[in-house]
Amino acid sequence: MTTLPSALRCDLGSAFRFDTLDHTDLQVSDGGLTEKGLHRLSDGALVESVLMHFPARVGHRERHTVCISSQAGCAVGCPFCATGELGFTRDLETAEIVDQVRHAARRLAGEGKRLTNVVLMGMGEPLLNLERVVEAVTALSDSERFALGARHITVSTSGVVPGIRRLTALGPQFTLAISLHAARDPLRDVLVPLNRRWPVAELVDAAREHARTTGRRISYEVTLIEGINDTDTDAQAMAELLRGDLCHVNLIPMNPVAHTSWRASPEPTIERFAARLRTAGIPVTIRRSRGQEIGAACGQLAAEHAGEPSPAVVARRRDLLLRRSAAALRGERSIEPPPAAILGVGA
Ligand code: SAH
Ligand code: SF4
Repeated sequence: MTTLPSALRCDLGSAFRFDTLDHTDLQVSDGGLTEKGLHRLSDGALVESVLMHFPARVGHRERHTVCISSQAGCAVGCPFCATGELGFTRDLETAEIVDQVRHAARRLAGEGKRLTNVVLMGMGEPLLNLERVVEAVTALSDSERFALGARHITVSTSGVVPGIRRLTALGPQFTLAISLHAARDPLRDVLVPLNRRWPVAELVDAAREHARTTGRRISYEVTLIEGINDTDTDAQAMAELLRGDLCHVNLIPMNPVAHTSWRASPEPTIERFAARLRTAGIPVTIRRSRGQEIGAACGQLAAEHAGEPSPAVVARRRDLLLRRSAAALRGERSIEPPPAAILGVGA
């Protein structure tokens, strides 16, 4: 506001904040193609965003995608996820969600580039902070504000069915990504604990309804973990589940995280899994992880900040996980209740 006297500008500058992100640490990897930001919010909570640059290639324009967080921590508690391990701190405000996008857009503008895509795949479960997430994506897609096409905004969910139905009813064609990870309930109960509340059949039903209403295909995300969800039986179950649907499957090798001994499925196993799905006519892409050397798996930087859990705690968790996943692989469903945070949702 250069038309105001400088003393007044100075006063305004010290009395008001124009950004909800207090401080950001940036780490760059992949030869400059991946930039990870660890943002400190006004109450000290830490959240992450990742800006990824995809250079132009034949048939594809250059893209700049920012992956943002919707909550500090997450209550869902998927055992392969560093954010799940941190537990839940709080929901982000609408401005805190939008400011992660502004931060990335400003960095790009400095290089004469424009942000092209936003994905809500950072920390947190977007559909458990539904009102603010809807406000944020509405602001981002509004032609008078950020003017990003709704199709260029992806909301990723671990399967909050009432939230999916709300998004469907909202109308604009946001891209919906569903973190499926397993087609069989006993295994998904362990990998995505809210499956105990909204099982696979209900989830896929809501996804089909979304695809039918919006005409947009669903992106299913599958993080492949060696010996856990990458078997032929699992590939076959997923092929049967999704055969004929308007969808696309992304296979992602698991990023190693500190608190489990689980690791990524080997390349040939991933190829085999992909081939089974393709045989059923399902389009599949194998995604390479970005930014592994800076811990760019969801929540990893913040987890490092929180400090390493003690070896005894890690050993106990691994033990529990091994027992649960062994039971799941035998086809036994979990008798554990779903995470407490979702009990009131959509009741
Ligand atoms: N809570 C939402 C969005 C954030 S998580 C959801 O679960 O969809 C974004 C994606 O990162 C999810 O697909 C999640 O399964 C995946 N993810 C989490 N930890 C991972 C890891 N260690 N390796 C690979 N993918 C991981
Ligand atoms: Fe939460 Fe998504 Fe991580 Fe699961 S994968 S714990 S839903 S952030």
